[in-house]
Amino acid sequence: MKQILVLHTGGTISMEEDAQSGAVSPSSAHPLLDFSHQLKNLAHLITKQPFHLPSPHIEPTDMFKLKSIIEGEYRNSSIDGVVITHGTDTLEETAYFLDLTVEVKIPVVMTGAMRSSNEIGSDGLYNFISAVRVACTEEANGMGVLVVLNDEIHTAKNVTKTHASNVSTFQSPQYGPIGIVTKREILFHHKPLYVEKYQPNRLNKRVALLKAYAGMDSDLFTAIQQLKYDGVVIEALGQGNLPPHCLDGLKKLLQANIPVILVSRCYKGSAQDVYDYEGGGKQLKEMGVIFCNGLNGQKARIKLLIALTKTTHLAQLAQLFQHPNYITKSGER
Ligand code: ASP
Repeated sequence: MKQILVLHTGGTISMEEDAQSGAVSPSSAHPLLDFSHQLKNLAHLITKQPFHLPSPHIEPTDMFKLKSIIEGEYRNSSIDGVVITHGTDTLEETAYFLDLTVEVKIPVVMTGAMRSSNEIGSDGLYNFISAVRVACTEEANGMGVLVVLNDEIHTAKNVTKTHASNVSTFQSPQYGPIGIVTKREILFHHKPLYVEKYQPNRLNKRVALLKAYAGMDSDLFTAIQQLKYDGVVIEALGQGNLPPHCLDGLKKLLQANIPVILVSRCYKGSAQDVYDYEGGGKQLKEMGVIFCNGLNGQKARIKLLIALTKTTHLAQLAQLFQHPNYITKSGER
């Protein structure tokens, strides 16, 4: 029987609803612990609770803690897979951090719930069982960190929380899931071509995330510089454009060697240097703004936090975003 390391970290999956007020809050004992018997035929679970936090409380230090527990257990005990339960609000950020940094040759699967443990239609136990089943699957190895909820298997890189309350909230816009969970089988139908890895020691830089809007000016960029941020990610308009009044503040950031990473605020598609007008993508790229494709704003921010531990040189950062540190399936960089 496979040995699966389970790390419970908090989130709705560990909470319950108060019948009177309807308020959802952390329960004293993790509700999933009561159901160990329902999993005893699936796997041998080694359960740890490194912390018990709603996911808006998760910080990079917590992400590092998970990384070191996983790598430590991988080195010192014979685990076959890892399942992490986590609040859904920031699940994609922790998943992508672990995807970029954890180096183990076993499946790492994250899951959560949209309805707490005592609510009608609670999805926690079901998602947890699905995640354990995926973690026990040979094919799940080498796929990067996976996110399993609502019968779908997503990559950490592409998945995002798309709905505030619906149980089908986790989607991979543009790409879709890479597999599905059925009653009898775990069926993968796609495989990521590359794995990207970094080995940061800690995330000690400050990176802001801004969303562009009609009429945006330079004020927030000026504030970012005055507050001595180390970098900024902008969810730009459309294919990667910004209002012209942003340019002055942006130029000053770049002159101060503060990296500016651009993604699109659109739900699908890529930011590119297509438009040639004041504030258009072409001008932004020529100024030194770094275009990052395939990541949403919150994940580009995680990547910039990691990249800044390697280099603060703008050209080298551009290289990491445009030609990432990919490892192919054959292990070559
Ligand atoms: N606010 C909760 C959290 O992220 C939501 C959830 O777990 O789904 O911890």
